[in-house]
Amino acid sequence: MQVLKFGGTSVANAGNIKKIKNIIHTKATHTRTVVVVSAFAGVTDKLLQCGSLAADGDNKYSTELKKLSAQHLEAVNELMPVSHQSHMQIFVMQQLNQVEDICNGIYLLNEFSAKTRDRLASYGELISSKIISAFFSSEGIANYWVDARSIIKTNSQHTHAIVDFQNSEKLINEFFNNNNDGLIIIPGFIASDEGGHTTTLGRGGSDYTAAILGEALNAANVEIWTDVSGMMTADPRLVSNAKPIKVISYHEAMELSHFGAKVIYPPTLQPLMKKSIPVWIKNTFLPEDSGTLIKSDTVNNGTMIRGISSISQVALLSLEGSGMVGIPGFSKRLFEALAHHDINVILITQASSEHSICVGVEHQSAAKAKEIIDKAFALEIELQKVHPLVIEKDLAILALVGDQMKSHPGISGRMFGILGRNGVNVRAIAQGSSERNISAVINSKDITKALNALHEEFFEPSYKQLNVFIVGTGNVGSKLIAQIAQQQAYLQQNLLLQIRVVALGNSRRMIFNDKGVNLKNWKEALENGEAMDLGEYINQMQQKNLRNSVFVDITASDKVAAVYEQIFIKNVSIVACNKIACSSPYNNYFKLKESARDHNASFFFETNVGASLPIIATLNDFLNSGDTITRIEAVLSGTLNFVFNNYDGKISFAEVVRQAQKEGYTEPDPRLDLSGMDVMRKIMILARESGGKLEMEDITNESFMPSSCMKGSVEDFYNEMKNEEAHFKKLFADAEKEGKKLKFVASYKDGKASVGLKHIAPEHDFYHLYGKDNIVLFYTDRYNDQPMVVKGAGAGAEVTASGVFADIIRTMKA
Ligand code: ADP
Ligand code: ASP
Ligand code: MG
Repeated sequence: MQVLKFGGTSVANAGNIKKIKNIIHTKATHTRTVVVVSAFAGVTDKLLQCGSLAADGDNKYSTELKKLSAQHLEAVNELMPVSHQSHMQIFVMQQLNQVEDICNGIYLLNEFSAKTRDRLASYGELISSKIISAFFSSEGIANYWVDARSIIKTNSQHTHAIVDFQNSEKLINEFFNNNNDGLIIIPGFIASDEGGHTTTLGRGGSDYTAAILGEALNAANVEIWTDVSGMMTADPRLVSNAKPIKVISYHEAMELSHFGAKVIYPPTLQPLMKKSIPVWIKNTFLPEDSGTLIKSDTVNNGTMIRGISSISQVALLSLEGSGMVGIPGFSKRLFEALAHHDINVILITQASSEHSICVGVEHQSAAKAKEIIDKAFALEIELQKVHPLVIEKDLAILALVGDQMKSHPGISGRMFGILGRNGVNVRAIAQGSSERNISAVINSKDITKALNALHEEFFEPSYKQLNVFIVGTGNVGSKLIAQIAQQQAYLQQNLLLQIRVVALGNSRRMIFNDKGVNLKNWKEALENGEAMDLGEYINQMQQKNLRNSVFVDITASDKVAAVYEQIFIKNVSIVACNKIACSSPYNNYFKLKESARDHNASFFFETNVGASLPIIATLNDFLNSGDTITRIEAVLSGTLNFVFNNYDGKISFAEVVRQAQKEGYTEPDPRLDLSGMDVMRKIMILARESGGKLEMEDITNESFMPSSCMKGSVEDFYNEMKNEEAHFKKLFADAEKEGKKLKFVASYKDGKASVGLKHIAPEHDFYHLYGKDNIVLFYTDRYNDQPMVVKGAGAGAEVTASGVFADIIRTMKA
């Protein structure tokens, strides 16, 4: 004996019903088979909706009923040859006439009781099962239709009646002993009480019908045929990478279903577990997929977690007050009050201080709960021993489930670590001593992010997703995008990192794509994007609330630098090529670093100094390993190096500067480089990272530029440099006379920093610097005689982009 149950989508229309015929036909040839069917998808909802309309005095229900009638008649016409159709057409019309009569009654009486709800809802399963039975007969498949109400008995708790197992078992066995048919078709969901009135087993209860029959008949197995290939590691509607679970224990499956895995109705497994009857979850639309096997014992799946489930629309009720501490009976009264009003408690937490009890309930019960609890504790509230009940809405519960979690430390640590890193605030936590379920209450808006992040952690060791938001698509930005495009496949394969550029923006336009902007034609896409609005860009980034998000600033804009704090607050990491934030007033720099730390976000800005040279990372390594920076000597301007390495008095100084700008080494305004300002900012950042509290005005700058060059526009600057050529020639000649070279040097020692043009002798480390090279000498307690030297190309779009790229990847490792 086997029991097969087909859910609503599996019997949604004639096409699907033909599919289930093939499944049943192959399965039922050798073994006696019971087929339990649901109403066509959506029909139960529609019937109940008609009842509600009627109760509200709205006669639109008759139009809705006509649609229901047409839907069922269409199935009949498609499934059966004309010769078989008429008696089923009459049946469908009769049934829907009865439904209309019931609705008319509800309309007239203005009353829609639980008992009537059950009557009304029962027609969905009654009609679908009859149509399927008649279809099978018309196809020559012998079968017998039996009304579940005659063999499944319940109490009279309408809409979620309790099964009388003893009586039902007797009736089921009597029926099956007196019947010889190989294939029995039964409507799911419905039953009857002692008085013969129709009852239902709760929404989704057709699964339960299959279980009741399976248990009573000692079936070899029960199969639940639905629209997914098994019980999945998470709700597939929220986690696109969810995978079917091959084998799962009854206990684990029950925990998952109680916690929102809708694929199986929660009470279903209880009767089957008692007799160790295996349960399969199978996909009607992909019958060859193996599906999920639910049984007593399972195999280790390599991770302690079997699945993650979630329930949305939860409210948290908190009863608090010093009057509760050490006094027995408060929780009893609280739960009694809730139970008395049929309010189901989903989760309970009480801290050992006994100062508060927190209870999770369904959203729609919250107002009622407040009313009854405040009433139950009216005296204590008046005496100020407890506070009036506090309700918080818009919450969700997620739960990690797995038998193997027991006695394995570290799982909750990982769980809450991931939630924290993704900025998901945990409102309450519950874990029973069975250690099979760890539940956390979080904000509804975070549920998708939280589920995906946890799923990735526990089920997708294969890769992590990094969601990148870029602003700035100039020289460096476009190179970065090209590098990401080129490297995506490598990173996924070798670092198990999937990088998605979710948003791109420049000063004019912005685009978003949750699946990742196509990096092959991003320029066109951006051109056609919406007008740039930084506030809206940040807003969208926050709305998307994606895990492992990083904001990448490749602009030189003070407006972008001004929003960093706002970004950290949402736990998003920042990679900045833009130097403005780190060279802003010390308090702001410090606050940003602190804010990043407080919100578990990374803040990397390696390219602020020396493009991709590992300067800030090296400095941090010194400090982290307990060393102290005593002195820094550095040549930090790629532009000035290029200029002084190429200027020999033959081509004009202005020409050489123009060349540097053309090669992309300068800041957008080259005066920032020529004035020494850019070097000042860099040495200040290094000083700050070394622990110095420096401001720009604390840095001495012996500028070599005539002040006349620094006024007006960039063109004025070039013209004025031409006029001052003699001044530059003299600078060069003075150094050359001594056999030395000109270098613009930055120094930091004893809390003081300075920048200026120096004559460098041939034996000095700085002498052999070519092209756009940068060099930094770190003197530390440990490197006090010979400095540590970091040297190499310190400017250029390609190397700067690679530094930004490295920082982006570093955010995942932090
Ligand atoms: P049926 O109508 O066949 O009874 P249901 O709609 O009741 O089907 O249940 C199947 C649905 O449950 C799936 O389509 C899926 O969207 C949802 N679901 C939620 N959580 C899970 C999960 N963990 N595994 C599988 N399906 C899930
Ligand atoms: N048709 C019922 C419902 O929609 C029962 C079921 O499908 O399992 O709730
Ligand atoms: Mg279901």
